[in-house]
Amino acid sequence: MQALVFTRPGVVELQDIDEPSVKAGEAVVDVAACGICGSELHGISQPGFRQPPLVMGHEFAGTTADGRRVAVNPLTGCGQCSLCHSGQERICPGRAIVGIHRAGGFAPRVVVPERSLHDLPAHLSWEAGAMVEPLANGVHAWGLAGAPKSSRVGVIGAGTIGLVCLLAAQRGGADEIAVADLSERRLEVAGGLGADVTSPALEGEFDVIFDAVGLPATHQASVDRLRPGGIAVWLGLMSPDAGFDATALVRQEKRVTGSFAYTDDEFSTAVQMAGEVDLGWADSFPLNEGAQVFMSLMHGRDDVTKALLRP
Ligand SMILES: [Zn+2]
Ligand SMILES: [Zn+2]
Repeated sequence: MQALVFTRPGVVELQDIDEPSVKAGEAVVDVAACGICGSELHGISQPGFRQPPLVMGHEFAGTTADGRRVAVNPLTGCGQCSLCHSGQERICPGRAIVGIHRAGGFAPRVVVPERSLHDLPAHLSWEAGAMVEPLANGVHAWGLAGAPKSSRVGVIGAGTIGLVCLLAAQRGGADEIAVADLSERRLEVAGGLGADVTSPALEGEFDVIFDAVGLPATHQASVDRLRPGGIAVWLGLMSPDAGFDATALVRQEKRVTGSFAYTDDEFSTAVQMAGEVDLGWADSFPLNEGAQVFMSLMHGRDDVTKALLRP
């Protein structure tokens, strides 16, 4: 079968690969749509977390051999440690992610653990099915923020992860949501989804700030713009530099937490949410155009917020 393969630093290409083999407890999924994640765009220029050769793709939906329409929770824990036993597989030291530690969804077929399958409602489009994984990240981040109703929420970065934080905060009853991004086009998308304020940088004070970029400057803004006692939830991975004033954390009891992935329950919540929110901002492309789409997104193309590949 023809799959999109990360072959060497900075390169993804279409290649003929063997059909995946299935072990006990696993299922084959015929992939209908698989999203390109921002983490993959910079992951291929700096291999580390992902090692070539690899079929990436951890945001996908499709059909099993017995006809179930499913989205796949790509993350599994070791199942043995205390984190796994307390439902925190996402931060298990032995966690494995489909599309990172094993072949993923940029292929016509992918093999996944059976327990990772989540049934999709019959009416849900494949595009929305592939958006369940990013939505689950928003659900989790909102939970980490304490899901505060009637709050002022700031979102830095109007890419997919910023937008799913916006959608999760809206759904959770936030009072006012401001979204900051340097791209006009992305701010338009955020405005279209109902952000109350869109601007190049956050202004004013917030109870919660999501940093969906992860640069030193956005880390700093996410702390500076918090009210005393507020919480910054970091999801972006662009730089390892913290870059913020640590004394403000002490003197004003501000908090910063990282947010990685989601629980399986939050993934289920995201399945439900996928049928309720506007996901019309995702664009589909055939898998055989995947290499060009990857390259253009890596080079800063911003007319596409979320690209989905359809094998
Ligand atoms: Zn992702
Ligand atoms: Zn574990």
